[in-house]
Amino acid sequence: MKLINGSLYIVPNNIRRDLLLELSKENELKNIKFMSIKEVVDRFGYYEEDALYYLMKNYKYKYKNAKIILENIRYVDNKKYDNNKLDNLVKIKNELDKFYKVDELFLKELNHYSVYVYGYDYIDSYSRNILDKINTNYLKPESNDYKHTIYEFEDMFSEVSFIASSIRDLLDQGIDINKIKIVNYSDEYYFIMNTVFNMHNITINLKNESIYSTNICQKFLSEKDYELGNDYISNKIISVINKYLFIEDEDIKREIYINEFKNIKLDKKYENAVELVNLSEVKEDEYAFLIGFNDGVIPRIYKDEDYLSDKEKEIIGLDKSYEITSELRSSTVSNIKSIKNMVITYKLKSTFNDYGISNLNEELGYDIETGSKYNYSYSNSFNNLLLGIDIDNYIKYLDYSDELELLFNNYKSTNYNTFSNEYKKISKDKLYEYLKNKLTLSYSSMDTFYKCKFRYYLNSILKLDKYEETFAIYIGNLFHYVLSKAFEPGFDFDKEYNSYIERDLTIKEEFFINKLKDELVFIIDTIKKQYSHSNFKNALYENKFSINKDSSIKVDFIGYIDKLLYEEYNGKTLLVIIDYKTGTQDFNLCNSIYGLNMQLPVYLYLSKNGDIKNAEVVGMYLQKILNNEIKKDPKKTYTRLKEEQLKLTGYSLYDEEYLNEFDDSYEHSEVIKSLSKTKDGFSSYSKLLTKEQMDELYKLTDKKIDNARDEILDCNFDIDPKRIGFNNVSCTYCKYKDICFMKEDNIKILDEVKDLDFLGGDTNA
Ligand code: SF4
Repeated sequence: MKLINGSLYIVPNNIRRDLLLELSKENELKNIKFMSIKEVVDRFGYYEEDALYYLMKNYKYKYKNAKIILENIRYVDNKKYDNNKLDNLVKIKNELDKFYKVDELFLKELNHYSVYVYGYDYIDSYSRNILDKINTNYLKPESNDYKHTIYEFEDMFSEVSFIASSIRDLLDQGIDINKIKIVNYSDEYYFIMNTVFNMHNITINLKNESIYSTNICQKFLSEKDYELGNDYISNKIISVINKYLFIEDEDIKREIYINEFKNIKLDKKYENAVELVNLSEVKEDEYAFLIGFNDGVIPRIYKDEDYLSDKEKEIIGLDKSYEITSELRSSTVSNIKSIKNMVITYKLKSTFNDYGISNLNEELGYDIETGSKYNYSYSNSFNNLLLGIDIDNYIKYLDYSDELELLFNNYKSTNYNTFSNEYKKISKDKLYEYLKNKLTLSYSSMDTFYKCKFRYYLNSILKLDKYEETFAIYIGNLFHYVLSKAFEPGFDFDKEYNSYIERDLTIKEEFFINKLKDELVFIIDTIKKQYSHSNFKNALYENKFSINKDSSIKVDFIGYIDKLLYEEYNGKTLLVIIDYKTGTQDFNLCNSIYGLNMQLPVYLYLSKNGDIKNAEVVGMYLQKILNNEIKKDPKKTYTRLKEEQLKLTGYSLYDEEYLNEFDDSYEHSEVIKSLSKTKDGFSSYSKLLTKEQMDELYKLTDKKIDNARDEILDCNFDIDPKRIGFNNVSCTYCKYKDICFMKEDNIKILDEVKDLDFLGGDTNA
């Protein structure tokens, strides 16, 4: 493209970079500006940072929703639309008027430039109106009707392998790597492309991570006095801090920081590398590989699922989803035809999906070629990998591939089926430095440790588990929150319930939330009925316990107990521990000898180490607050069955006097599941522990915590999942199977323990 003096070029970032390079090669000094469409449109009207804060503070919007509102209020005029969403946008727009700014200087400056736009597949109608106002010239690539071949592959792996060897062919022919582009890339290709291209020594700029995941950013977010340096990431962080200096609310500020950091990409690009670009960005002399030419992937189909629906877009004159889809379709066809050097590929399946060829080929009418050959002359390591895959297929499915013989004859020394997954001990110094000389243990991290030390290492030390709040977790948290307030004086159910629900809900989620509201009211009423049997009048909710367990470094054992009921009685403080459960939970104590399922013992341990003096635990229980199924019983009403599901499950102290204080119905308990008396004493279903057994359990817990701490600080993180009976109790729900490559001989077989003899004395009545 010939760059004309005195022009503003509105182009996507990739093109901007290339044009700047071209400009730097010219001898003449030219007055030329480059901007993206968004940058130009924003100068015509934008909201200052205060507007974002205003929405988050006054409307309690989350960052992302506040951004959506700011994006959309620019589309409405100050008038009545008789449409709730649009009228609400108008209302907010008026409130935010004081934060609205126009870059007058830029608008004046525009008069001195000729404006050109280039390289966009689609420009929305709002931006188009603005561009029209400033007499923009729309440059189109020269239209052509080049014919291309489409290559079909069984799967993504063969598709990417073919592309890699084709790129190596081009490089061998002397083509500059900077002229090779990948089009239509999606994250689904990341892993395979990264691996296969690496093995072929092809440098490619795949997706760029954000600064959020960097050490500097994480330290800045977690350490109050963290000092930033003068590097790229620190400077980006400082610019975000400066933008939001005026915000006093620390929670909102933090949410904004996190989201902004996630949007800032790392400045990490290889100089000479294959680039990912859009179709419209490919230039005449470049070589493009259009990958994933699959139906439903290209052309992109826009659905009517934006914040503003098609109906609302119609009212305010924006393009509707089907119009965008149709425009993109025709620009995609014309772009494909206009690119001179292009290889088009598609796959028939990926790990999770089956695919067909894009329906665009009904218009393009290109030939389809199958069975294209990979060129074996570029990578020994890749050929070895192919051989491994072929041997696998032969052994498992008797699938004898054409290339197996060829590869086997050339690479007999392949280390097929040999690997070591052994954990190699890390140094203590490194671990302590990584932990910053501070270790925090809890019931769940200890449980993970005793299930499998390596799983603990990945989960709690390396923190590979990304916390994602699913709807189920959200509901669980909502129930816990309301129940922590429900028995306090002046409790207002609706106020507390609604104050928690601040996220945007789908229609389905809204339906469940409303249904579960009644369920929660029922739970609270039932618990109140249970309280009527008790003399325990004091309670602590969501109380945090922290026990010092310092060793070679600082160690804290912490835990939160959902509910601790207590009462002074004859010089003692009687305690009852209750933990709300939303899923299934095994409360059986038999495996505590192995350090497993120790939730109740851990709570016993924590509560006896808390601030309550002279504590005597009368019971420790789980209470299941979300029940998926109620077993039918013709003798009982549905309500009665539901009330029974809410009875406490767990262990009670074998002391009738104390029990009677907590539950005056204990002989046929209305509060504790299976607790009852017969003429011969307590029924065999009652779960009771003597005072001595409780003490033993306390000591066992103490020992297990100390042992876990010592092994962790000694860097013992072997892969050691446990099997009890026929049950692998460690790996079933483990997310790290793909990392540990667990082998049968890693499994430790533990004897099945069926009673609590290890605590001494008789267990049940
Ligand atoms: S899958 Fe099993 S062996 Fe592997 S880390 Fe998880 S628990 Fe340990």
